[in-house]
Amino acid sequence: MIDWDELIESAESAARNAYAVYSDFKVGAAILTVEGKIFTGCNIENSSYGLTVCAERVAVFKAVSEGFRDFKALTVYSEAIPPARPCGACLQALSEFGSDIEILCGNSKGEKDRFNLRKLLPEGFTFKK
Ligand SMILES: [Zn+2]
Repeated sequence: MIDWDELIESAESAARNAYAVYSDFKVGAAILTVEGKIFTGCNIENSSYGLTVCAERVAVFKAVSEGFRDFKALTVYSEAIPPARPCGACLQALSEFGSDIEILCGNSKGEKDRFNLRKLLPEGFTFKK
């Protein structure tokens, strides 16, 4: 059972730390591991724009760097209307760790859209030897 309220609140809280000095588009993400641990991330922009990293990948990379690789759910929070979806790069990064991850996108208006990673990235890249 996924506590979606807790997960979207974690993402909202993480968005407050967003370093979005160029776009002013603050995003927070929270990823839930199968063990029940939550890792959060925010977008981190850079004056060299290409170095900017999305909140979703920050959350995933924090979890993986702490030894967690199996994920149940991800939430993304922003002010966007409708709620912003993860970008293609983040979907690809997520798909490395499974295709059954549930994704909930929410905003400050309380709007929520729910997807499965497989729906948002049906034919992602896989490296097969
Ligand atoms: Zn992204």
